Amino acid sequence: MTTTHLPDPDELDTLRQRYSLERERRVRPDGARQYRPAEADFGYYAADPYVDGVAGREPLKDTVDVAVVGGGFGGILAGARMRQQGVGRVRIVEKGGDFGGTWYWNRYPGIHCDIESHVYLPMLDETGYVPEWKYAPGEEIRRHAVRIAEKYDLYPDALFSTAVTSLTWDEATETWIVATDRGDRFHATYVVTSTGTMSEPKLPGIPGIESFRGHTFHTSRWDYSYTGGTPGGGLSGLKGKRVGIVGTGATGVQVIPMLAEDAEHVYVFQRTPSSVDVRDNRRTTAEDVGADREGWAHERRENFLRIVSGEPAVRDLVADGWTASAALLEKLLPSFRRAQEGPSFEAEYEVADAVKMNELRARVERSVDDAATAEKLKPWYRYACKRPTFSDKYYAAFNRDNVSLVDTADTHGIERITEHGAVVGDRTYELDCLIFATGFSVGVSGILSGKLPVHGRGGTQLLHAWAQQGPRTLHGFTGNGFPNLIHMGSLHNASSVNFTHVLDEQAVHAAALVAAAEAGRAVVEPSPEAEDAWLAVLAKGAADHEWFHAECTPGYYNREGLGRPNTASAFPHGAVAFHELLRRWREESIAEVLRPRTAVETN
Ligand code: NAP
Repeated sequence: MTTTHLPDPDELDTLRQRYSLERERRVRPDGARQYRPAEADFGYYAADPYVDGVAGREPLKDTVDVAVVGGGFGGILAGARMRQQGVGRVRIVEKGGDFGGTWYWNRYPGIHCDIESHVYLPMLDETGYVPEWKYAPGEEIRRHAVRIAEKYDLYPDALFSTAVTSLTWDEATETWIVATDRGDRFHATYVVTSTGTMSEPKLPGIPGIESFRGHTFHTSRWDYSYTGGTPGGGLSGLKGKRVGIVGTGATGVQVIPMLAEDAEHVYVFQRTPSSVDVRDNRRTTAEDVGADREGWAHERRENFLRIVSGEPAVRDLVADGWTASAALLEKLLPSFRRAQEGPSFEAEYEVADAVKMNELRARVERSVDDAATAEKLKPWYRYACKRPTFSDKYYAAFNRDNVSLVDTADTHGIERITEHGAVVGDRTYELDCLIFATGFSVGVSGILSGKLPVHGRGGTQLLHAWAQQGPRTLHGFTGNGFPNLIHMGSLHNASSVNFTHVLDEQAVHAAALVAAAEAGRAVVEPSPEAEDAWLAVLAKGAADHEWFHAECTPGYYNREGLGRPNTASAFPHGAVAFHELLRRWREESIAEVLRPRTAVETN
């Protein structure tokens, strides 16, 4: 039996110093401004490679019951839950050529979800589908999105390869006018927005990036016409090619072993190593997960949410790296527990964190043959500083002769890109292909960035209404002055690593709001007092994570090292409590947001 070594105070102090040093090596004064969006001259990086031209169609001027902005899991679930409530015409408007959102765009080789498929895939009870793998490949997940859309008949009214460009409340008809980039201008009684929080690919602003003459693309727009193969591998187009990849986050960790199989040489440009835990993917049967029982998926999903939210649970049904490390996922633990337990919690937490990170660094040493390479791959920060990743193939890739790790920590990334390659220090790496696994602009929905203008009652623009004191909502869904507009995503609510679960709870709530309004011939609109009360709930007990993130290596968790403001933007008691609060509110208080319709009904 092995015993866990608990670090003593001196060891903890040494670790703190090392973490601080590694942070200082990486913090850049330009913070998040170091990135550039994949638009304008860089629009090529965001173009849809999965549609073969966009067929023309007549602009729509009709009226539907519900318009949903975004056809990822959030939008599809909103549509499905609306159907369950008997809503007639639901029109989902989606930029991509089909449903799927993240799973439509991301089709890179090796793509899998590292949240267990039996809790990640929504509506398994309703569709009767049982995933075949503990961690499903991306294509299985994309197909499941399509499965739900088909089951709930969401295709006939859907608009693909179409972006909503404005939402305007029409007082006379009490409907929203939805305008799109295809010339549509249709009416919808309700609008649900589910535009995702990580949908805009971003590129590093490396000098000279535009001058590269080789082939280049972002992982979320994988160019199989160049690489050959499929998400399962066989990238025959890379034979004889020198491939550079920038980024070693959750995406890079999945892609790099696949590139290594086919490219002549792979240069991995790393700035900060990920923590890479055991994955242990395997085939599963219906018996393995108890799928013969009614409600099995719901039960499993709730169990996972309880554990990763730091709530007590009798059993751990999923039993994987996430649930094992749940106590370390500081940002997920409800802050009221931290407040109650105070300094003793923080001290125990730091020890547990050091044990976990020591274990992960030991895994690198065990797995990577070359000691110098292993040293560079070790993550020197606390567990919750960066998104944890999971792979049983990643480290082995660095034992191959055709894979080189290029550490760019001291130069803050690649210094310069030339026509033929990438410059780091005194060396130019000549490349045929340069792939960016550099992630997405985080937390920027079109509504909050102003890209999607929304005009409510009296023509008031939503961003103006929120400019003074920040967003104002009830439960994150609805706002005064913007009737029948329902937001989904991560505004003023509680989140979880299993984001599809969060979205499904939101979809149920959105559909209940619409059903109640229809039954009461009402519009949905909270009073300013209800918004004030909700903002007070968010402010009371808001977690002080600032100190923690201020000590972390830079990344999107801490605005590239600048720290995390605005902690009062989330419900402080965690997702389990939030879902329970919503359930009770629907049963007891939903009428408080219903106001009589005033428009004359024409049918
Ligand atoms: P990401 O987590 O934002 O990682 C971006 C990577 O690019 C980081 O390693 C970053 O290094 C690196 N980078 C950025 N600029 C650089 C530069 N100038 N030079 C060198 N390196 C640079 O993006 P991602 O891996 O695509 O993940 C995006 C999101 O998708 C994450 O939330 C992730 O959890 C999610 N995801 C989930 C799964 C799943 O299985 N569920 C799979 C893949 C992705 P630094 O760390 O130094 O900034």
